[in-house]
Amino acid sequence: MIATFTPSPPILAGSRFGAYGGQYVPETIVPALAELEQGYRQALADSTFVEHLQSVLRHYVGRPTPLYEAARFAQRVGGGPVWLKREDLAHTGAHKINNAIGQGLLAQRMGKRRIIAETGAGQHGVATATVCAMLGLACVVYMGEEDTRRQALNVYRMRLLGAEVRPVSAGTRTLKDAINEAFRDWVTGIESSYYLIGSAVGPHPYPEIVRTFQSIISQEARAQALTAIGHLPHRVVACVGGGSNAVGSFAAFLEDACVELVGVEAGGRGPGLGDNAATLGAGRPGVLHGAHSYVLQDSGGQIGATHSISAGLDYPGVGPEHAHLKDSRRVRYHAVEDVGALDAFFALTESEGIMPALEPAHALAWVQANRHPGVTLVTLSGRGDKDIHTVASASGRQEYLA
Ligand SMILES: *Cc1c(COP(=O)(O)O)cnc(C)c1O
Repeated sequence: MIATFTPSPPILAGSRFGAYGGQYVPETIVPALAELEQGYRQALADSTFVEHLQSVLRHYVGRPTPLYEAARFAQRVGGGPVWLKREDLAHTGAHKINNAIGQGLLAQRMGKRRIIAETGAGQHGVATATVCAMLGLACVVYMGEEDTRRQALNVYRMRLLGAEVRPVSAGTRTLKDAINEAFRDWVTGIESSYYLIGSAVGPHPYPEIVRTFQSIISQEARAQALTAIGHLPHRVVACVGGGSNAVGSFAAFLEDACVELVGVEAGGRGPGLGDNAATLGAGRPGVLHGAHSYVLQDSGGQIGATHSISAGLDYPGVGPEHAHLKDSRRVRYHAVEDVGALDAFFALTESEGIMPALEPAHALAWVQANRHPGVTLVTLSGRGDKDIHTVASASGRQEYLA
């Protein structure tokens, strides 16, 4: 029997994961967060809501996604068996839809007809616009002006899906400015608007909500492993941007002390500030996006610049649960550089006929570099079609484009 979505019991004492999380927001937003928490708890306790979500995940998203043994990839790597949790086969090609669907249905149940989102690379914006089209909800997506230029194709996709994309020209014209605008919009229309956050970040209760909707990944994978492999995997590996696919991949395994959990961050060009997005490895505790967590910052506490070959990992913060899991040592976090991810992109493409997104290529690269014995389960969080131009220019294989 494959697991369907099951709401997990509350995991938080108050609004924090250990020392991290909380609500570092203007007072005007606090009532909206309280309303959200109440609406969320009521929805999860409502069997009609849960059954509807299960049905949409099955018939619209295409869940359960397969667990696939990448035997030729494993042979090439030279360690133990490697199994892939195929989130790349979910509708729209990545795990982000799991959260967008869950929160979209929650917004609908709370009577909100207008969705606000913010997006950096545009992938969360596309997932949100998709769900809004499916549910008939209005959708406004804030995006830094700089990002709208870099990700023009995703802007076009969002507009095709009926979303209004609002370029933000304040500050550095990137994600953190878009986040500010999204909060500002939310404050002015809290009765009718729902702010749909795309990763396991933000003020409480967002990290818990996103984790809940993404935990379907590990609920399915754990049951699939027991059936297909006959035992639990020895380790679970996932890439970490804001941390939603990783926290969703780890959730059902946290109590399995025998399962090693590994989060892989973007090591970019190297260890210097501005050259990577390895928040847990190179950051310090601080406040970003309304929560206390690890943050990439300079010595004066200003948010640091980031770089990664994968747009989806290029974020200076990380979800508060990961900060806690790092400090408690339940999960080990490592960084993989751009070149490693690129190499793993080719390795999986050539050995399995599966093009990974550059984000999960970081997780694959960690597996490649370590050649561990035992069974490794890797979450393939998305497909790589979106990245082929980046791959072409970064690898020098432009001649293929001719
Ligand atoms: C956005 C994205 C990520 C990073 O986001 P998380 O919240 O850390 O999961 C990883 N993989 C893919 C394919 C993405 O689109």
